[in-house]
Amino acid sequence: MKDTVTQTGNYPWDHNRRFNAYSEYFRKLFGERVQKVSVNAGFTCPNRDGTLSTGGCTFCTNDAFSPSYCKAEKSVTAQINEGIAFHKKRYRRVSSYLAYFQSYSNTYASLERLVDLYGEALKHPAIRGIIIGTRPDCIDEEKLGYLRELSRKHYVAVEYGIESCYDDTLRRINRAHTFEDAVDAVKLTSAYGISTGAHFIFGLPGESRDEMLAEAGIISGLPLTTVKFHQLQIIKGTVLEKEYLADPSGFQLFSWEEYLGFIVTFLESLNPDIVVERFTGEAPPRFLTVSLWGKKRSDQISGLIERRLEELDTWQGRLYKEIF
Ligand code: SF4
Repeated sequence: MKDTVTQTGNYPWDHNRRFNAYSEYFRKLFGERVQKVSVNAGFTCPNRDGTLSTGGCTFCTNDAFSPSYCKAEKSVTAQINEGIAFHKKRYRRVSSYLAYFQSYSNTYASLERLVDLYGEALKHPAIRGIIIGTRPDCIDEEKLGYLRELSRKHYVAVEYGIESCYDDTLRRINRAHTFEDAVDAVKLTSAYGISTGAHFIFGLPGESRDEMLAEAGIISGLPLTTVKFHQLQIIKGTVLEKEYLADPSGFQLFSWEEYLGFIVTFLESLNPDIVVERFTGEAPPRFLTVSLWGKKRSDQISGLIERRLEELDTWQGRLYKEIF
């Protein structure tokens, strides 16, 4: 982006941004901009179908985050075509895409079914690879072996919802897996040579700011390629909303200014080798019970965070010390 940034750090990335930016990582990997198109392939989740629980994670609602073209009743190809048409309006020159299996747990099916669904996506002429969002307990060596085969010809990434490094929090939000489960899945996926991503939420009930900041050190020690961070949002219709409305004092939702300060401090301790895809979530306002941030789009937020990094003359990993 800006050529005006003074490069004061010895960044391990080869661009002038102050964090290890996902868009630059892709540009380097593919030599061009690639865009993700979301796919809802009709998966469910063991935390919703009764295998582990029926309630799901207390914050879970896939509707808030799925684009309108993503409907499980449409074929993978139809969703990709509609997704590409949707993105073409904004990014006319983009011609390469990644299919993002986004809704629910996208490895929670037999290998045969996964072969069909991923294979259909990869047959599409504009699709350069797949990104698979799933739970840490929905992967095994057989599936990873298949993904490793796919990754020899295509970009393949598995993204795990981890949400917190603390088991007390994971219990409280009914994740139905432990942090150790997540660490095992990340290590195994990475050992198979597959790009490994993780998603975390900041502001979950019961966690202090210091505990969240300490997660930078824990995450830094994992063999992760990419991370996504979201601030906690209270989404209408979720169990979390009920808890919040019953006792808002149990929640410490970040204001925008608080979050800006937090995320900059967090980034300073984060391993600079880890690519950061997002800093925030952006559920459409109509889904939110509480709206504290006004109308800020994700790209604006990213720009404001970079501006603050510049003002403070700091960057991702400035205070990172390798301890693992
Ligand atoms: S694991 Fe994902 S899909 Fe399943 S209940 Fe939790 S947030 Fe929802």
